[in-house]
Amino acid sequence: LQSEKGSLSAAEKEFENNIRPKDIEQFSGQPQIIENLIIFIKAAKLRGEALDHILFHGPPGLGKTTLSRIVANEMGVNIKETSGPVIEKPGDLAGLLTSLEENDVLFIDEIHRLSTVVEEYLYAAMEDFRIDIMIDSGPNARSIQLSLKPFTLVGATTRSGLLTAPLLSRFGIKSRLEYYHTETLKKIIERSATILGTSISPEAAFEIGRRSRGTPRIANGLLRRVRDFAQVLNDGQIDIGITQHGLKALNVDEHGLDEMDNRILSTIIEKFKGGPVGITTIATAVGEEPGTLEEVYEPFLIQEGFIQRTPRGREVTHKAYEHLGKKPFTSGPQ
Ligand code: ADP
Repeated sequence: LQSEKGSLSAAEKEFENNIRPKDIEQFSGQPQIIENLIIFIKAAKLRGEALDHILFHGPPGLGKTTLSRIVANEMGVNIKETSGPVIEKPGDLAGLLTSLEENDVLFIDEIHRLSTVVEEYLYAAMEDFRIDIMIDSGPNARSIQLSLKPFTLVGATTRSGLLTAPLLSRFGIKSRLEYYHTETLKKIIERSATILGTSISPEAAFEIGRRSRGTPRIANGLLRRVRDFAQVLNDGQIDIGITQHGLKALNVDEHGLDEMDNRILSTIIEKFKGGPVGITTIATAVGEEPGTLEEVYEPFLIQEGFIQRTPRGREVTHKAYEHLGKKPFTSGPQ
């Protein structure tokens, strides 16, 4: 459920697009980001200019793509969407950039996966709205400069730590998306249920929200699955009873932790006596990159009080032991 967009099935993508908020009023949560964006968009429109380049960063499923489309919509411009690994050559980038109309948005998802060469071409495009391309090769090779219409680059990444300093510095607006509060997720779930034409009780929406790892994508996914249980077993009514039944049948964790979250906690407890242990050591033990652990998984575990950072590394808390039904490791009387 926690998957990146790339691994979503066609049906899941279609579902996501159906329930995706299209304008700023339908977007719940992230109040600080929204407040600022409203100002920046108004100002750019008053001046008749392209909006400054924006970087949205944060864990998957928190609304980076959604916000990018909303930005284009509010600016009244078109959006072209692509992703880092898809732009293989500078020529691909030049093709995209020259196809933009004035003030359009170019959205690059997974921007941390751009190749170094392509990234270097992007610098001049972002800064001076021009791109130098090489034509011909060998002795006839020469570079020509194309000027571009002003545009807004919106980049999204789960791994801002992998972005180079020159790229980072070219974004005038950098926004980090935060995990959502349960109350906000409840609202999002209720809105999605209305679009799906299903009725859901407030308690049921809250319960799904509480167990969604602070993430709208997970909340919507769980709603969709619980709706199946309700349809077959409860005349389509999503109440608290069918919700608890469904979430149990789906093996959804009481705190909304996913498989990797639980693997991290049990690894620290079982292999490292609860910590403190370094992030690289944990990463090797669970088979994940240290950076992904640090930027994608750990923030939620820290926010929810399952892990704490100490000068000597990461340590699990009592809450983690309780959650996994394990006893804290003791080294005997001290
Ligand atoms: P990201 O690009 O950060 O991975 P998306 O923008 O694709 O996430 O959002 C994933 C799903 O969650 C979409 O279906 C979208 O409708 C929903 N979603 C995300 N943020 C919100 C929000 N603030 N309000 C309502 N729905 C949201």
